[in-house]
Amino acid sequence: MSSPSQLSAQPPSPARSTALTDIRSESRETLASRFGGPGIPSYRLDQLLAWLYPHRVEKWDEMTNLPRKLREELAQHFGLELPQLIQKQGSHDSTQKFLWRLGDGNLVESVLIPANPDLYGERADRHTLCVSTQVGCAYGCRFCASGLDGWRRNLGPHEIIGQVLAVERWNSRSSGKPDDAQAPAQTPPATSERLVNNLVIMGMGEPLANYDNLMQALRTLNAPWGGAIGARKITISTSGLAPRIRDLADDPLQFRLAISLHGATDEVRDRIMPVNRKYPLAVLTEAGMYYVEKKGKMITLEYILIAGVNDSLDEVLPLSRLAHKLHAKVNLIPYNQVEGLSWTRPEESHCRRFSERLQAEGITATLRIEKGHDIEAACGQLRLKSERLTPLKAT
Ligand code: SAH
Ligand code: SF4
Repeated sequence: MSSPSQLSAQPPSPARSTALTDIRSESRETLASRFGGPGIPSYRLDQLLAWLYPHRVEKWDEMTNLPRKLREELAQHFGLELPQLIQKQGSHDSTQKFLWRLGDGNLVESVLIPANPDLYGERADRHTLCVSTQVGCAYGCRFCASGLDGWRRNLGPHEIIGQVLAVERWNSRSSGKPDDAQAPAQTPPATSERLVNNLVIMGMGEPLANYDNLMQALRTLNAPWGGAIGARKITISTSGLAPRIRDLADDPLQFRLAISLHGATDEVRDRIMPVNRKYPLAVLTEAGMYYVEKKGKMITLEYILIAGVNDSLDEVLPLSRLAHKLHAKVNLIPYNQVEGLSWTRPEESHCRRFSERLQAEGITATLRIEKGHDIEAACGQLRLKSERLTPLKAT
């Protein structure tokens, strides 16, 4: 770059503030256009991206091979932040749940799940990370902790990406540290060791209601210079935003889709998922079929088993019809109890019977006994509890 002004595609800000767009929310193309002057070689962009993603730095000063002047300019134009760990539950060899504080003080969660070879047929050293896409959720499913206090805001692309980077940063520093520890105040720079091989967009929030930011984040997480996570290793879960399922079908990247069904009739779904009044099963099924046709891929139907609500064996037949129509497999998940809500999970033996009946109808069904049941791993629970105990403060 020949002069500072070449980074000034947008008006310079008077002072560094959290209002600056975080650099991880920018696409490679946008950054490249800012670096496009005659004086800056493209290898500087590659160096910058290597600091941002494989090395997951939190401070401009960590970018030691970039000239100081360039670092100062970058700092004037962009934010550079990762979510801050404020609480972690669970142990290294089991499900771990992270509660993060974002730049504005809001809290979100991510859950790290070691491979379950029975479920995914993966190697034991694989890890799946479940990330949040919103603070709260506007969709208000009756059984879910995420929507209990409503929707607060969408996460920016950098905050979605940041959950992956922050977990990996934590992991690369914390080996050998006791579990359930708080983040150390002073830590050495992270290494580029990879941890997360699979990503599920199933944390707090409705991902397809934050579509543009989600897609921007996933493109970076998928890119070889970014997170390098294969599109087929990324699953997006939706409560059923039919028009957005069609948009996703039209996107060239091959992300996987999971639909949170939880009811195979409008009667049951209306009772527990208000979104069904807007996009009833017929509309949702059409969108699902469009996705399957365009992608030529199997989708997954998520079905929480809630005692006395959707677990009657009479539900097996309509569920199997829907699954056949969508060429879908079904993940059965016994309900994870949420404090303050009266819903409960059925007996394990009943869950097994439901699963066997479904399989007898020719459906591929998995009964997922939640690994994180004991640490409130269902989305939104930890954050809700933490906020209700400690009123939110902006930092
Ligand atoms: N909003 C999206 C993604 C986040 S929710 C969606 O609804 O798909 C991720 C999954 O967790 C959904 O299938 C959701 O129904 C499920 N879930 C929510 N609360 C739960 C609970 N208490 N026990 C088990 N699963 C739950
Ligand atoms: Fe929102 Fe999904 Fe929870 Fe429904 S299940 S309230 S869509 S996060």
